Amino acid sequence: MRLRFYPFTLELKHAFTLATSSRTATAAMMVEVEEDGITGYGEASMPPYLGETQATATAFLAKVDLAKYPDLFRIEDILGDVDSIAPGNNAAKAAVDIALHDWLGKKMGYPWYRIWGLDPSKTPVTTFTIGIDTKEVVRRKVNEAAIYKVLKVKLGRENDKEMIETIREVTDKPVRVDVNQGWKDREFALRMIEWLATRGVEIVEQPMPKDQPDDTAWLRAKSPLPIFGDESVVRLADIRKSIGVFDGINVKLMKSTGMSEAYKMIATARALGMKVMIGCMTETSCAISAAAQLSPLADYADLDGALLIRNDLFSGASIVDGKVTLTGGPGIGARKL
Ligand code: MG
Repeated sequence: MRLRFYPFTLELKHAFTLATSSRTATAAMMVEVEEDGITGYGEASMPPYLGETQATATAFLAKVDLAKYPDLFRIEDILGDVDSIAPGNNAAKAAVDIALHDWLGKKMGYPWYRIWGLDPSKTPVTTFTIGIDTKEVVRRKVNEAAIYKVLKVKLGRENDKEMIETIREVTDKPVRVDVNQGWKDREFALRMIEWLATRGVEIVEQPMPKDQPDDTAWLRAKSPLPIFGDESVVRLADIRKSIGVFDGINVKLMKSTGMSEAYKMIATARALGMKVMIGCMTETSCAISAAAQLSPLADYADLDGALLIRNDLFSGASIVDGKVTLTGGPGIGARKL
């Protein structure tokens, strides 16, 4: 099996501002595996706060030798070996995992949701993300998001109430907020959540820093809204630390090292009575389509990543009337444009 990879820069339609960063582009690495005349596609999306770069992904992927595996269906062994090459590099590992799943699904002739036995009509609606911005831009973005039934609003700077009040001037759609670790004081966080609960907010994601699990557990016990973990819950082993801290987790392929571990994370969260959101970074329709295969297992979806970029390389899973919609194509169900 041949593994190819090349750097790619995702150009964002709007500057994307979070509690701790702002950017207009996201570095990515595209991966292809080829054998038997079949090409499987994968992608690593690497927002800067996660620490991976095109240089680290190139160095990591150069060490992945798929030629030594006579049977590519032994994906658990292969992915275990890839994981052991070096710690971290989660997005680069995800790119290999996605490309292998795409290849295997194409080889079998089915999309992964079918291989997993999932009902494609059970995909959730997706949120559309509104970054931290001025009142004028927020109003415009909410109007642009007319087809989406639920909004995800980024909070955690000094204008949190203004952001929500601006949105409430133009729409009464349900809102989920993502604080991206922006509130450092638990009493302040509780007062904010109590206020948000009166403004049609459904969920609060990662309200406090990941190194404050005790404060987050205190907050969760008092919060009128469910608290989801994102930055605190990277891989499968992190779920154990989330018991009593979060009501649900946001599973993302770029954190989990790909589809295989994401599936296990969802099953584990379910067994622990936790809710599941399937999320994404800014990504092309390659990685979004891979995540969409898992989405019938999720309670909530935040899979708008390909809608936020202007230079998508793939067509695949799309959003129809606000709902994640699978293509039925084999593998991850994406086609290179
Ligand atoms: Mg988040």
